[in-house]
Amino acid sequence: MADTTEAAPGISFDLGEEAESVREMVRDFAESEIRPIAAQIDESHEFPAANVKKMAELGLLGMFVPEEHGGAGMTYLSYVVAIEELSRACASHGVIASVNNSLVCYPLMAYASPEQKKKWLEPLAKGEKLGAYCLTEPNAGSNAANQQTTAVLDGDHWVLNGSKIFITNAGPADVLITYAATDRSLGARGISAFIVDADTPGVRKGRKEGKLGIRASDTREIYYEDARVPKDCLLGELNKGYTIALATLGGGRIGIAAQALGIAQASVEAAVKYANEREQFDRKIGEFDAIRHMLADSTVELETARLLVYQAAWLRDQGRPNTKEASLAKWHASEAATRCANWAIQVHGGYGYMSEYHVERYWRDARICEIYEGTTEVQKMVVAGQVLKEHPLEA
Ligand SMILES: Cc1cc2nc3c(=O)[nH]c(=O)nc-3n(C[C@H](O)[C@H](O)[C@H](O)COP(=O)(O)OP(=O)(O)OC[C@H]3O[C@@H](n4cnc5c(N)ncnc54)[C@H](O)[C@@H]3O)c2cc1C
Repeated sequence: MADTTEAAPGISFDLGEEAESVREMVRDFAESEIRPIAAQIDESHEFPAANVKKMAELGLLGMFVPEEHGGAGMTYLSYVVAIEELSRACASHGVIASVNNSLVCYPLMAYASPEQKKKWLEPLAKGEKLGAYCLTEPNAGSNAANQQTTAVLDGDHWVLNGSKIFITNAGPADVLITYAATDRSLGARGISAFIVDADTPGVRKGRKEGKLGIRASDTREIYYEDARVPKDCLLGELNKGYTIALATLGGGRIGIAAQALGIAQASVEAAVKYANEREQFDRKIGEFDAIRHMLADSTVELETARLLVYQAAWLRDQGRPNTKEASLAKWHASEAATRCANWAIQVHGGYGYMSEYHVERYWRDARICEIYEGTTEVQKMVVAGQVLKEHPLEA
């Protein structure tokens, strides 16, 4: 066998000091401030504004943004650990933070001018302002390139007209990263990104949507009715918005995968705890093979999801390609979360169906991870596309 002692360090499964201390800090915060209200805000659909302020104080809203731009200057790995821990207690908190970090701060970090960074990124990364990502339209979902919202230059302003649907953080958002067609004849190559102040006259927010899960996150439609946005609010180059949208989603998917991981973790913990407590036929139900198999099946789903999520984040931190890995992580972790939550309900029997035991909320919350930031079917398209790029079909 070859002597590998001199070889490069190879694989390490240690998260490192920074991510471990983030886990400890966020877990403490989540246990004391989030878990106690999670069921209540799920029922009331109330946006957890006070906790969002606390997340800002802890630096959780601009985690990987450099400190010079108001962020915490941490790794993507630390960021996903934070989203995992928030979501372990309440998936709504997870997505509120994930959208601000990955879908709002990231494109500003990567594409904004120095002046735009000062004006927009800094307060968003500090959590003084909250952002939303406005891509989806009633007729532009999986095919997001089919943008009907238009932006037309008129003197010193872009005039926006159209509407966006299913926008997370819409109600409380101060800043709307908005995608619009600047040249519809060019299709995907005629879309641009804009930084829109939510108070702009002509920007109107719809009513809060009722949802199956993540009910404490605020989801609404947004309408643009002759909304005049200053010319210097174009983000990145003209007609390069679709590239920005996709690059942004590439990172966002790892955040959603981390959200799913947190839900899966919570589900497995609840199932194991209950299996250890509940007795039927004069035995702990954890002694029955049928229950043990569900715990084992849940564990393999959880641990494989964790490996994929951390791998994708690690690759991103190394500046290495991670498109395929981000989609694999999002696809698998989201389905794993649904399966783990489903088994957790089954392990709990009738009690699992009752809101008091929380596992029904985990299942409802898990389900969205298979849909937003690209459905599972879209992730499979991305994975297949990447694999075929690596190994092209022979003519
Ligand atoms: C709670 C919530 C929050 C959201 N937050 C945001 C947000 O903050 N910002 C934002 O911009 N968007 C947001 N979205 C939108 C979300 O990303 C879209 O709903 C999602 O991308 C799917 O689009 P769609 O709903 O139009 O479904 P469709 O695209 O109509 O898909 C319907 C079905 O067809 C399948 N399908 C479509 N095309 C194909 C294909 N080519 N091959 C195989 N199957 C296909 C889909 O997988 C799905 O099963 C949110 C959605 C929800 C529900």
